[in-house]
Amino acid sequence: MSYVELVPDTREHPRCKATARSGERCKLPPVRGALVCKSHGGHAPQVLRKAQQRVALAEALKYGERRHPWAVLLDTVHAADVLMRDVRMKLEEGGSDLTPQDLTRFVESVERAARLARMTIDARALEFMAQHQRAEAETVARVLNAALAAVSLEPEQEAAMRAAMRRELLAIDGGGRPAIAGA
Ligand SMILES: [Zn+2]
Repeated sequence: MSYVELVPDTREHPRCKATARSGERCKLPPVRGALVCKSHGGHAPQVLRKAQQRVALAEALKYGERRHPWAVLLDTVHAADVLMRDVRMKLEEGGSDLTPQDLTRFVESVERAARLARMTIDARALEFMAQHQRAEAETVARVLNAALAAVSLEPEQEAAMRAAMRRELLAIDGGGRPAIAGA
């Protein structure tokens, strides 16, 4: 069942999915979040409760705050870990009542938690490497600029120095480093 279908665009006119006694499709609008109108069961408590849950979820998807991928990843790792520990606790309590399905569920939960933890570590390592390279490049640029400022060169000598520095830096990493001032 699609949430888009349940919370339709207001320009569309959704109709109740039920068939009227005449054999024709019901023409009434469905209760919001449900597929049927109020006279075809749309006001039954369990239908209404589920409809409200779907509307709440659909609205959260549409208007909810978007989190940074980092927050999502860390949250996911935590959830996987909690679920894994829950399965393990049940396993330990179960004793001889354990079924092969219980064991499969345990192995799957461990593997899922390990996979997500690994993914988070990899992502962290990539971020760390990028930050480290940026900091290193800034240090190199600062040192070279300070060295140039400390000596009084003729304008053409300074220009030649900057051109050489720039060439060497570009050769190191293909142009990703911050430019030397004036180069
Ligand atoms: Zn109806």
